[in-house]
Amino acid sequence: MAHKGVILPVLQNWSCHNCGGCCREHQIGITQEEKRRIEKQGWTEADGIPTDRPLIVPLGTAWRLNHRDDGACVFLNEQGLCRIHAKFGEPAKPLACQVYPYAVHPSGASVTISLRFSCPSVVQNLGQPVAQQRSFVEQLAKQIVPANYSAPAAPDLFTGQKLEWSDVTRVQAFLERGLADRRVGIATRLMRVLSWLELLERAQPDALHDSRLGDLLTLLHDASVRAQPDDELPVVRPSGLGRVMFRQMIAQLLRHDTEVTARKGIAGRIGLLTGGIRFTLGVGRVPAQADPVSVRVAFGMTARNGNDRSPWFSQLEGEFGGRNADFDEVLTRYMLVKIQGLHFCGKAFYDRPMIDGFRSLALMYPAILWVARYRAASDGRDHLVLQDVQAAVATLDHSFGYSPALGLKSSQHRITQLSKLQQITALCGWYSR
Ligand code: SF4
Repeated sequence: MAHKGVILPVLQNWSCHNCGGCCREHQIGITQEEKRRIEKQGWTEADGIPTDRPLIVPLGTAWRLNHRDDGACVFLNEQGLCRIHAKFGEPAKPLACQVYPYAVHPSGASVTISLRFSCPSVVQNLGQPVAQQRSFVEQLAKQIVPANYSAPAAPDLFTGQKLEWSDVTRVQAFLERGLADRRVGIATRLMRVLSWLELLERAQPDALHDSRLGDLLTLLHDASVRAQPDDELPVVRPSGLGRVMFRQMIAQLLRHDTEVTARKGIAGRIGLLTGGIRFTLGVGRVPAQADPVSVRVAFGMTARNGNDRSPWFSQLEGEFGGRNADFDEVLTRYMLVKIQGLHFCGKAFYDRPMIDGFRSLALMYPAILWVARYRAASDGRDHLVLQDVQAAVATLDHSFGYSPALGLKSSQHRITQLSKLQQITALCGWYSR
């Protein structure tokens, strides 16, 4: 059957501002048909493409566009534009390039649309409202979701607890309701939702379907609001183990695998291992982190190199003024787009159940503020500015749901442990200061 149309995120704008980041930071897989199409386009040196390498190279059992030595796609021109797009129009580009930064997820009878915040224009909410791009997105969805579409299985609520798609929508609506309540800060909203999810996990299985689930969600949501009516939250320092597991997660989120890092071979792998150990130990200076190209271009920054000014791990545990209405707005929009687009569970997120996936999403809050603090402290500041938070979202969302390392069982186990030890709420409170 054909799907019934796309569900677009509200409150989100986007138009491409040609920073060229996605053309440098992603490997673009292409089909055999796309390979044939590009080969027929007859590219020559006169078009400005490199002639010292093939334009298309193998990627596993398929193909991908090749990159230059500086990491740029072979088709990216000096103005940050795609040569295929400029010469033959957008439909001539590989589908993956046309789709980015949209993410298309079949869900029941519909298709939900999310956006990737690794694109700085998405983070900054620049451009045309997504709601006005419906026909363009419908066309993309038609190319991605086959005509003989059959709805995939719904994500579990938690491991072993099956849901129908109608119940997924019920839970999704309450996650959204909890996070959209702007009368309190995003840290309080996250803590409320985390508290009722914990109770939902303990409910009798027969209460987790249809109208009984709807009634239960209403009760739990209302109780969580009564329990935490304002932003007066107890700030608890995360435990030593909680901080270790949190830094390990950040190290994975910051890996930011690209064409250039993949080329570093064994030296690159040793570097990753050493960096991972330093994050686990959490002593000394934080290993220097390079900004992604898109972040540098969008925020007018120069490349960071050397680690003279890299802050101490201990420095990042201080107060940086994380509770701020402007930061909350970016983080709220980020979380709502991920929830509305079902970009935190099921097929779009390592096949994780809804509750586990939400816990991973909630952990993005302290992770983003940790990276924002790293940026501020690297610039010699002890307080955050909006650009720190925006750049941190763009940096970390590159990996969220896409890094193979975060899909490993050990990564899932870490999230479960952090939750059992009450460390997710502790981390949200601690890094909101
Ligand atoms: S990262 Fe976003 S703004 Fe930059 S070129 Fe890609 S789609 Fe355009």
